[in-house]
Amino acid sequence: MALSNRQIADTIRHMGQLLEIQGDENFKVRAYVRAAETILRQEEPLSEKTAAEMSRLPGIGKNIAAKIVELHETGTIGEYQHLRESIPPGVVELLELGGVGPKTVHKLWKKFGIVHVDALEAAARGHRLRSMRGFGEKKEAEILRSIAHHRQQIGRMRRDQAEEVIDSVTAVLPPGSWSVAGSFRRGKSTVGDIDLVSIAPAATINRLLSSVADEVIDEGERRTSIRVGTRRIDVRFTDHARFGSMLVYLTGSKQFNIRLRGIAQDQGCKLNEYGIEHLQTGEQFTFANEEAVFHHLGMALIPPELREDTGEIERAQAHNLPSLVERGQIRGDLHVHSSWSDGVLALRDLARIGEQQGYEYILITDHSASLGVAGGLDEHAIRRQVHEIELANRDGGCHLLAGIEVDILSDGRLGLPDRVLQDLDIVVASVHSGFKQEEDVMTRRVIAALQNEHVDILGHPTGRLLGKRPAFDIDMARIIDAAAETGTAMEINASPHRLDIDDIHIRQAKEHGVRMAISTDAHRKEDFASMRHGLALARRGWCVKNDILNTKPMHELLEFMQ
Ligand SMILES: [Zn+2]
Ligand SMILES: [Zn+2]
Repeated sequence: MALSNRQIADTIRHMGQLLEIQGDENFKVRAYVRAAETILRQEEPLSEKTAAEMSRLPGIGKNIAAKIVELHETGTIGEYQHLRESIPPGVVELLELGGVGPKTVHKLWKKFGIVHVDALEAAARGHRLRSMRGFGEKKEAEILRSIAHHRQQIGRMRRDQAEEVIDSVTAVLPPGSWSVAGSFRRGKSTVGDIDLVSIAPAATINRLLSSVADEVIDEGERRTSIRVGTRRIDVRFTDHARFGSMLVYLTGSKQFNIRLRGIAQDQGCKLNEYGIEHLQTGEQFTFANEEAVFHHLGMALIPPELREDTGEIERAQAHNLPSLVERGQIRGDLHVHSSWSDGVLALRDLARIGEQQGYEYILITDHSASLGVAGGLDEHAIRRQVHEIELANRDGGCHLLAGIEVDILSDGRLGLPDRVLQDLDIVVASVHSGFKQEEDVMTRRVIAALQNEHVDILGHPTGRLLGKRPAFDIDMARIIDAAAETGTAMEINASPHRLDIDDIHIRQAKEHGVRMAISTDAHRKEDFASMRHGLALARRGWCVKNDILNTKPMHELLEFMQ
């Protein structure tokens, strides 16, 4: 199977990180990081290029090109394998902690002999890290927080990670013979185990599964469990006639399934994964699709994302479920970075990609300069960018809107003056610093930004990075009230690393009349596909078309923003 550019880039970047952990010279390490960036920017699959063609790409020399060829031909890179064997796995795991990069891991390992998370925790608790340059009391506390968060998330996958596992397993299954179920299908932001339903017979499928599994945990006629990497996949077997009941059974949350069985019971029936039995007559019903199961119980089909028993069951009984927002209704993306700040794509490329996505508009939201990160835009740069956007728009295609992702500074002021913001089409404001403020301080800080008349959308409202950084302390009820009062929209950040804010708050915001923007926060081409994750989250928050800002046609959107 040919590797995707993303998979190649991940391997190359990881190799760079391992070199840095080992203490290799910096220039070499940076070469890998740069090469990974270049690979992600390629539109054609690298698997179709020769080594000579690859080495002509910026940042990919002969050396790295040869490694990519080796990766294609053998499925790995000898030097990479060697590195992985020479560094204890517990050391590499330290990279997964928020705020810990390869350089820090190198020091922790070589200077303190720390080879796993437990040892790091003990050292931080025993205040033994303070002797290291740049490691004060604060940093120790931060590390302890990261470790606690890491432990909570252990064994859970982001949606993009889950998709990778699902793709690798289902690639060997006959098309049309399977479905994903479980929390992934319900659109949860992180996923524990992966559940699949197969209507192809176990005898055939088990053989195929073992060909992609790193370990077969348990193999049977009704159920087989395998491990791919560190992830567990459970496959349940059924037949075409009973597919619907099995899918309902394996998709609903525990609470949802209990309620559904109760409803069947009240009707004198027994519901399970094989069908429905009428207890008095002994009659058995089987269901090829989910809709038939719900109909038999006198209910409308409940979308998977709602199956949590939070009111959807009553609505399905009354046949007035909401028509949840769909991909075809999305007309644009309202949070996109270009090469003017930390994105990798030029404005013209973004217009072209927007067109490929079927979008009417894309809002360009580069960072403001106040962040202090490389490439943030100041007043002059913004004026030049607006001009370039106008030029790009003359070529037709997807319309680029001029925006900014302006920093909400620690005191609630914005990173750019009003005279700059007022000339932009739409302004997104986000917190990028001072995450450790107390709840009340943070809440007032964000409300101050919402009260600025030029701020249209609050970006990634809790700042969380799934598995890396918990949400900062903020009183979401007060934020939602302020957003409703000021007519500011809130973002549903669709990046699988963020999926910020969570479904409960989306539903609250929506019920308070706050509009939501489903935005990918794209930095590169592949990120645009994250819209699907944001949609799943919006649907979990009961959003319909009208709740979502970027379902509006452009002229209506701009009018709405006035
Ligand atoms: Zn941001
Ligand atoms: Zn952003």
